[in-house]
Amino acid sequence: MSVDSTRRDCPGHGSASTSGRERYNPGMTERMCPRCGAANPPAGMNCVACGERFPQKVDRKTWPILVRLSLWGLPSRASAWAFVWICVAGMLGSLAYGFVDWWFFPIAGLFVPAALAYYLSLRWVDENSSWR
Ligand SMILES: [Zn+2]
Repeated sequence: MSVDSTRRDCPGHGSASTSGRERYNPGMTERMCPRCGAANPPAGMNCVACGERFPQKVDRKTWPILVRLSLWGLPSRASAWAFVWICVAGMLGSLAYGFVDWWFFPIAGLFVPAALAYYLSLRWVDENSSWR
């Protein structure tokens, strides 16, 4: 008779599945695919379901140095746009005043790369990162 040795729950050897440490945590770590909506592990670069490449959310600390210099101290997209327009307005104003005092022509020229730097940096953040 071996009925005694069927199953005896030993308190010291509880089943390992109840540890709960590796419990799946929906909403906390997974990221949703923007195309198909599938849940993906956070480390993945591409969607496991459809292969869509995730937009890389680059932290502001990892922006290229030129972008960071251009957008130094600008917390938002709106303020960056404001600087673009300030530079454009400054360029147009200097250009107009250049007909009165030709010294303002080169000053107008200085506004061009400034406006361009703000605009290109703004576009870079739009495509590669996010405003936070
Ligand atoms: Zn997908």
